[in-house]
Amino acid sequence: MPDEEENEPTFFVDAMLGNIANKLRLMGYDSRYLADIEDDELITLAKIDNRIIISRDKDLIRKALKYDIKSIFIKNKEEIEQFREIINKSNLKIIKIDGHRARCPKCNSKTKLINKKNIQKKIPDRVLDFNDKFWQCKNCDQIFWEGTHIKNLQKFVGQLNER
Ligand SMILES: [Zn+2]
Repeated sequence: MPDEEENEPTFFVDAMLGNIANKLRLMGYDSRYLADIEDDELITLAKIDNRIIISRDKDLIRKALKYDIKSIFIKNKEEIEQFREIINKSNLKIIKIDGHRARCPKCNSKTKLINKKNIQKKIPDRVLDFNDKFWQCKNCDQIFWEGTHIKNLQKFVGQLNER
C-alpha cells in the first residue's frame, strides 16, 4: 500500500554492509547502497533523500551526526544482532519477506509480479516446474522467484520475529 510505504524509513547502507542492504531490500525497505563511495558523497546523498545511514565506521557516523543525519552504528558482528539493532533504532514494523513488497536486491527498484508464461525462455525448466510466482524488477528486468535464497531468508526473518 503506497500510504504505508511513504511513512517507512529509507536507508543508505555503507559499502561494508552489502548483505544488510540486500536483506532490507528484500524486506521491502528502500535501501541505497553503493559498493564504492566516499564518505562525504554518501553523507551528501543521504542528506538530500533524508535517508538513515547504516554503518560500522565510527568516523562516518560521527560526520553524519554533525550534519544532523539520523544514523545507526552497527556494533555487533552477528548479522541477526545487526538486524535487531536496525529494527529497534528505526522502528521497523514490517519484518517479512513478501514478493509484493520486495525490492530488487540488485538495484533497489520496485518489482512486479509477472506471468510465468511470459518468461519461459528466460528461466531454466526446473525452476519453472517448481515455482509458481515470479517477479521482475521494474528497472533492471532481473527475474526473481522464491528459491532457496528466499527460503533461507524466511528462516532468518522468523528468528528476528522470535522475540
Ligand atoms: Zn533491479
